Amino acid sequence: MSDRTLVGKTALVTGSTSGIGLGIAKVLAKQGANIVLNGFGDVEGPKAEITALGVQVAYHGADMSKASDIEAMMTFTATTFGGVDILVNNAGIQHVASVEDFPVERWDAIIAINLTSAFHTTRLALPHMQKTNWGRIINIASVHGLVGSAQKSAYVAAKHGIVGLTKVTALENATTGVTCNAICPGWVLTPLVQKQIDAKAAALGISNAEAVKLLLGEKEPSMQFTTPEELGELATFFCSNAGNNIRGVAWNMDGGWTAQ
Ligand code: NAD
Repeated sequence: MSDRTLVGKTALVTGSTSGIGLGIAKVLAKQGANIVLNGFGDVEGPKAEITALGVQVAYHGADMSKASDIEAMMTFTATTFGGVDILVNNAGIQHVASVEDFPVERWDAIIAINLTSAFHTTRLALPHMQKTNWGRIINIASVHGLVGSAQKSAYVAAKHGIVGLTKVTALENATTGVTCNAICPGWVLTPLVQKQIDAKAAALGISNAEAVKLLLGEKEPSMQFTTPEELGELATFFCSNAGNNIRGVAWNMDGGWTAQ
């Protein structure tokens, strides 16, 4: 256990009851970080999975579209663990429609959850990190922070926005021990993407396997999904000493999507 590199650190991962967030939380916990989980749906399952890794785990159900909820979650984390050392801004939603048909309420929700929430958590986490002169802010953006795709206006706008926020946060803290970087995954097989596969299969009258092949074939040369565990390992690398001077990058893990 003593070779675990993040013992004594506290990681808050937003949207960590499912998918990528839960995967990253588990990898950070394997390195000994205490974890604050957040998100909707089943909480006891994810909590038990983290506890089994021999760290302390807490949960806060803040709705990431609400500034007051986020403030309460940050206060809760400070009271429970003393503050956030590793902040992973991961909570996110998707909606697919052309710009002229895009529901205004979905636009507002995507910008709030996928972008504005990271501004709130970051502004509230920074004072503790600056005081201890160590911190890691890891923003889960997307290839859609670097390139666009039709039908995803709000998502692409929010993800480009979070890449911008990443750069500014990194620059403002560049002479300190606090770094901020973004991870830009291509396709990861989570509930968020399964919904898009289901929609494709239904629209074209094809099987799940055929829809997966089509989805990957359109964008991802490797023809394989990135896994939440792989993303967790990259987050852990950013947290290591080797990450001390990695500042403001948007690091894609996308099977070659943006190399084309
Ligand atoms: P997911 O749907 O499996 O998980 C999303 C998580 O966010 C869940 O825990 C959910 O409860 C939580 N959440 C949703 N709305 C929330 C809210 N208002 N308040 C608090 N929590 C909320 O999705 P995922 O695929 O794991 O996506 C996680 C992140 O990774 C997102 O930011 C997404 O944009 C990004 N991403 C995903 C992919 C992919 O292919 N799956 C690719 C690139 C980027």
